[in-house]
Amino acid sequence: MHFSSFRRTARSRAFLWCGAGLLSVLSASEVRAQQLSPLAAPALEPPAPLEEQQEEDDAPFARVRRPARITRPALIVRGVPISAPPDGFYQTPEEIEPWLLDLSRLRPTQVKTRILGATLGGNRIVALEITPSGVSPWKLRRLAVLCRQHGNEPESSASGARFIREFLTSSEPKKRAVAQKTALLIVPIANPDGAALYRRRTEENIDMNRDWGPFRTQETRVLANWIGAWRPHLIVDVHQWLPKDRQNEPMAEASGGALARRTAARMAQNSARRGYALSARSRWGLDTLSHRFWGQKFKIPAILLETRHRPGVAGAREAAIGTSLAALWGAAETVSRK
Ligand SMILES: [Zn+2]
Repeated sequence: MHFSSFRRTARSRAFLWCGAGLLSVLSASEVRAQQLSPLAAPALEPPAPLEEQQEEDDAPFARVRRPARITRPALIVRGVPISAPPDGFYQTPEEIEPWLLDLSRLRPTQVKTRILGATLGGNRIVALEITPSGVSPWKLRRLAVLCRQHGNEPESSASGARFIREFLTSSEPKKRAVAQKTALLIVPIANPDGAALYRRRTEENIDMNRDWGPFRTQETRVLANWIGAWRPHLIVDVHQWLPKDRQNEPMAEASGGALARRTAARMAQNSARRGYALSARSRWGLDTLSHRFWGQKFKIPAILLETRHRPGVAGAREAAIGTSLAALWGAAETVSRK
């Protein structure tokens, strides 16, 4: 068997296994989500057939089909202007959700709102799917970004929201070029119950980022289902060290192979260029953390990003947001280039 077709077959099997596993774990939660909220209406298109996926991944075919003349990405950003995201310190769902929902109204061909599910605390988990106008995510490189699994890490949401705005509006040629090639699935508040109360855990008092695999929470079940179906090429999970954490140097930790390691390095570089220290590393271990769940179990490249949350320290908030933002662009650059 030719190597590339062997690789594709192996990958298809992995996805089938992944899908089957997740579905069996998640069916109960889907039922629960519907009961909890009549508004929960997952509207993600079904994944493309495997054949299409395989062709997309097949480099020689892709080269043949590529148009001879490469058009330069448009530098003029068309569309209705988008207001700055709410900038309150706590970044509550109540504050951010209306801004998110507005984006799909303002830029309907670029932004799709996905209500992934409802939480026990009566909040909703909202994701945005952002693509170049009218382009299917299946034709693009796909980056999934998860922010705020821990409710008391508010700058992770603030940087996610700023990333969304820049992704849609930046006129910097480099950023535009990246956004033209990349589909972004982003969840600015993965733990809305915790975020509403500025506390780490979910309504059920469970640490979500030790729940990937056990799936005791509605939040991880819903997110795993969506991320698995969306088949990202890279996942970034945005967090913050707290003042009490013993180890608290900003870092990007890679899991899931070479692309993840390359991405962590690029994130650190981009961050350093803006004057923010961020170290890159790679670790194998506890796989109930989301990045290691995807990286170790499914070989989907994934990154844990940690900046520092230091309430009351002058300049700390801007540093945390600046670091995350630079790192997220670094991730998008890497994934858009493969
Ligand atoms: Zn965290």
